[in-house]
Amino acid sequence: MDDETNHPLEPDAVDAVDVAIVGAGGAGLSLVLALERAAGRAGRSSPSVVVIDPVHRREPDRTWCWWTPTRPEPWFEPLLTAQWPALTVVDRAGTARRLDLGSYRYVMLRSGDLYAAADAALSRLAGTRKAAAVDTVTDDGDRAVVGLDDGRRIRARWVFDSRPAAPRRPGSVLLLQHFRGWTVRFDDPVLDPATATLMDFDIAQPARGVAFAYCLPIDRRRALVEYTEFSRERLPPDAYDLALRAYLRRRWDVAPGAGARIEAVEDGVIPMTDAPFARRVGRRIFRIGTAGGATRPSTGYTFAAIQRQAESVAADLIDGRVPLPPRAYPRRHLWLDAVLLRALDRGYLSGPDMFGGLFAANPPEPVVRFLDGESSLFEELALMRSSPTGPMLRATVADAVARVGRRCPRPPASLRSVVAHHWRLDRPS
Ligand SMILES: Cc1cc2nc3c(=O)[nH]c(=O)nc-3n(C[C@H](O)[C@H](O)[C@H](O)COP(=O)(O)OP(=O)(O)OC[C@H]3O[C@@H](n4cnc5c(N)ncnc54)[C@H](O)[C@@H]3O)c2cc1C
Repeated sequence: MDDETNHPLEPDAVDAVDVAIVGAGGAGLSLVLALERAAGRAGRSSPSVVVIDPVHRREPDRTWCWWTPTRPEPWFEPLLTAQWPALTVVDRAGTARRLDLGSYRYVMLRSGDLYAAADAALSRLAGTRKAAAVDTVTDDGDRAVVGLDDGRRIRARWVFDSRPAAPRRPGSVLLLQHFRGWTVRFDDPVLDPATATLMDFDIAQPARGVAFAYCLPIDRRRALVEYTEFSRERLPPDAYDLALRAYLRRRWDVAPGAGARIEAVEDGVIPMTDAPFARRVGRRIFRIGTAGGATRPSTGYTFAAIQRQAESVAADLIDGRVPLPPRAYPRRHLWLDAVLLRALDRGYLSGPDMFGGLFAANPPEPVVRFLDGESSLFEELALMRSSPTGPMLRATVADAVARVGRRCPRPPASLRSVVAHHWRLDRPS
């Protein structure tokens, strides 16, 4: 909890707000920043805004990385902590493959910098910040009504809600991307700041799912080093530390206190599921961010989709259109992701082969566009051709059976069991 507001307004003034943003995390604050940019571009004033969150985040509690074209993007350029024109992917056997990203780069933004930029933007927009938890959001015809836990109510023309939310219906696969990252300061200049290690699969693998380490150098001595697992359950906290210690020892022959120092720790759990998320839950109520389906099911990447949605919503608000956030990913990407997730979860395919193979068999740019949700159909067909046919076909059939099962749960049970037996599938869900 923190201070009540940046710009205290009387409840009556807040009552007349145009835009209520529920949740001041990545999505809510990206929308504040996008609104300011859109208003500036159009030469118009921004709608009135209130941001509501019980927590006023200022510290860098997470690091956002994503791919972006190399042309300068002025708004986040000054906020970036680091950027890399090339990445390395290391396979199970320890062979490193360097990938020149061509017209793309991989960039890092620390959340504290986004929080500070959004606070400043909200202040310039004369927006309000409420330190309260939102209990309810309802439509009452002309307005949406946001109910706070202290009993206050805020009426808004449009509400953008990024509180954690359940999907519209359960999916048939739910994996967790769970990780711990250490910001490590090495005693010696052991790092190459021009190349990030995106995935190093040359580490102990879980029985189901996949694990990898990554290393994002900020300068020659400092890097974010992470242990990440895609699997059904989180590990005990010590297990992440053990994995990170093992990685530091193997890769640089250092340990915390012996050649390296841990400056910061970041933990995270990101759901990876084929379950669908709603973008509109009322006439005037929209979901944004992870709650609105911005998390890419097969990778957990979210930030780039948050930006695309924020740009679109902000432009709609300034131009007076209905500000429906666009789909975060095309349907065919979500279908491909459902197949990939199933193949990984059910063990049809090894994770290192799946992700490592994607980079090994294809030029980096289409892979990056695919992971970012921006590839063309033609590029996806080429990527699919390079993936192992048997396991992917098996996962595709299992996915199709699950979809049929969801649509008509009772009749084709015998058909489903024949198909499942033939393809040696898990029980259709
Ligand atoms: C540690 C970590 C690292 C990540 N790194 C990356 C990355 O490198 N690249 C990438 O693409 N994605 C990454 N992600 C995934 C994703 O980008 C982030 O989770 C991102 O913060 C999602 O933004 P969001 O606004 O949807 O959720 P959040 O940022 O979690 O914001 C939700 C907000 O809602 C607030 N809230 C909750 N309940 C209430 C309530 N009742 N009333 C009002 N407010 C409420 C919370 O306090 C919070 O501020 C990462 C996630 C984590 C956890």
